[in-house]
Parts: sequence; structure tokens; C-alpha cells
Amino acid sequence: MDFTQTKADYDQYVMHSYGRFDVALASGKGATATGVDGKTYIDFGSGIGVNALGYADEGWVKAVSEQAAKLAHISNLYYSPVQAQCAKLLCESSGFSRVFFCNSGAESNEGLIKLARKYSFDKYGKGRHTVVCLKNSFHGRTVMTLSATGQDVFHNYFFPFNEGFRFVEANDTAALEAAVTDDVCAILMEAVQGEGGVYPLEKAFVEKAAQLAKQKDVLLCFDEVQCGIGRTGHLFGFEYFGVKPDVVSCAKALAGGLPMAAVLSGEKCKDTFTPGTHATTFGGTPICCAAAIEVLTRVSKPEFLQSVREKADYIRSELEKLPGVHSIRGLGLMIGFEVTGVDSKQAAVLAGEQGLLILTAKTALRMLPPLVITKEEIDKGLAILAGVLNHLRASTAQ
Ligand code: PLP
Repeated sequence: MDFTQTKADYDQYVMHSYGRFDVALASGKGATATGVDGKTYIDFGSGIGVNALGYADEGWVKAVSEQAAKLAHISNLYYSPVQAQCAKLLCESSGFSRVFFCNSGAESNEGLIKLARKYSFDKYGKGRHTVVCLKNSFHGRTVMTLSATGQDVFHNYFFPFNEGFRFVEANDTAALEAAVTDDVCAILMEAVQGEGGVYPLEKAFVEKAAQLAKQKDVLLCFDEVQCGIGRTGHLFGFEYFGVKPDVVSCAKALAGGLPMAAVLSGEKCKDTFTPGTHATTFGGTPICCAAAIEVLTRVSKPEFLQSVREKADYIRSELEKLPGVHSIRGLGLMIGFEVTGVDSKQAAVLAGEQGLLILTAKTALRMLPPLVITKEEIDKGLAILAGVLNHLRASTAQ
């Protein structure tokens, strides 16, 4: 099916809830995707931070197909050795005690919020349910996670939103201190605000949050949906700040392309969920666990994480050479930047036409390439990007 037919079918049959690029993809290898019309694209987006091992990775394909041939899904009424192995690997590689498996980033944050509220309810009773969140955050699209999201643009149409969220400016330690009152059960933050424009938090702020959490017995929670699983050059983004959260949500890259997410808990709240208090049909289904085992086994290796940091340094140093590029930010292979005189959305559209898939976040251009991207693919992508930016800057200068 060619692009025109594919697009026509979407227009007719798929709800119009997404703004899409004029790109229809059929296959891929590594960080290179191929469109339905045979055109190739360097992928600096990896399905919004999902395809950590790139497209059609041999080990991942083997793990998933072998599991598919054995048993794709069983319910959580039964035990699965693959889920047990995945849970053990996830806990051992991250230093957390227990995991609850689910299916998407939003769901992992729903789980995290439920866990924080129940932890507090079990210990202190009703009324201690407020979650302190950050302005400019993003936590998902369910009503609960939209309510936890600190951007007014998301608080529309779907009224009523949930109560029990309080927002403070990122990096404002005084505001945070004032916000953590007796009705608070958790502080929730992203190590790098991804959708908010790729802004890492400041160390002093995170340290303050950790200190307050400990003092007041509120749970320190990190949403690692976008910045977790090796993206920042550490297994988790919070590692940059030298703190240990009580609860972490992760998703996106966890199973390298299959829908899987997890809530990880430390010792303090590992027994909070009891039978019947939280559940989801597909959570930790064997086929996703087999995929996640492959991802985690490889991504958690120190030399793999080191390679992520090296690639990130290389990309940053090359970006700095491009005219007009400024405010390069982020951690590891989660990179945002601005370009003087260039509209990021327009740049991303033109890049797509020229064979480069790149993301935006607010006014920034955003890169979340597969963690296995090669130097050759990076160079190819950056060359396309340079052409696009030069063209747009030249046309605005006229
Ligand atoms: N949390 C963060 C930090 C995210 O970046 C996202 C998605 O971009 C989500 C939560 C929601 O994840 P999902 O789209 O898988 O529900």
C-alpha cells in the first residue's frame, strides 16, 4: 500500500487525535527506517524514545519470536517464569525491591500515584493524598495523569479533572518546601522534563526534594517514562542527582518496542499493593517480558551506558558547530536545542521530507535516537539536519 492510500485510510478510519507527518513507515534496521515508497529515513526519534535497540534488532527479534512461539500471554492469575526473570533483572539492575507491571507510561504513573496514596492512607489515614508535581511536567493522557501534569494546555475539555495535585516551579526549592504540607503523600518529578522542552532538573532542587521526602515520610517519586532505561547514559535519570527515589515509573524503552511499563518500589512501599488493590490484564505479559529482558540485559551494561554518553557528547559537539543552534540541553541521548530564526515544527516537517525523523518539544527540536545508533547514522542525520536548518535560515533572512 503506498503513502496516498495509507493516508486516505487513516483519514477515513482512524480518529483524528494525532497530528502526523507525511511519512508512512514499512520497515527498518538499526536507526534507519524505510518508508512504504522505499525512501529511507535516519531516525532521531525512535518512536518517541521507545526503540532503544533500533528497528529489527537481531537479539530482540529472536527473544520476542521465541517467546511468541511458546506463549505470548497468560493472565496474572498464574505465575510466569519469564515475568519472574524480568522482575528480578529489573530490580537487581536498578536497586529497587519490587515491581508492578503495566502497559504504558500513563498507566505506570496512575500506578505510582495510587501506590503513594495507599502508602499514606495505610499509615496515616484519609486526607494525606496530595501529590506535589512540577509546573511544565508531563505525566500522561488519562484524566488522573493529565491532572498531575503541570501545563494548563492539557487541562481542557475533559472536566472535571482530579483534585489532589499541587504544582511548584521546577528548581524553586523554597516553593517546594512551602508546598510539602501535612496533606502531602508524594513528590513527583521527571529528571528531565521531556515534553516540557527537554529541561533537566537542578541537583540542589532534587536533593531538597529527597530531604523533604525523608523528613516528612512522603514518597519521592520519579517519572522515568521518557528518560529511563539508558536514555540519559545511566539506567535511570535520577542517578545523575545521587538520590534514591521511593517509587519510579518507567515505560517507553522498557520492552524496546512492545507496550510495557513498570512501577518500581523501594523497601518502604514494597508491600503497599495487596491483592485486588491494583491490576491490569496485560501487565507483565510473557512476550513483553521476553523483550524487556533483552533490552535490560544489554542496556544496563556499563559499557553500553558509556557508549550512550559518548554518542551524546559527539552529537552535542557537532550540534554546536551548526549555525544558529543554541541552548543545547538534556542528558545523554535526550537532547533538545533551539535554532535562531527557525520554527522547530517547520524544521521537523522539512527534515521528514529530506529523510530525517526528528521530534519537537515546545519550541525546541528534540532528539531521542535509538541508543544503538551508529556514528555513520548520526553523521548522515546531522548532515540532513544542517541542510534543513541552513535552508530555513536562508529563507527567513530573505
Ligand atoms: N510520562 C512522561 C515523562 C512522558 O514523556 C510520557 C509520554 O511522552 C508519559 C508519561 C506518558 O506515556 P504514554 O504515552 O506511554 O502513556
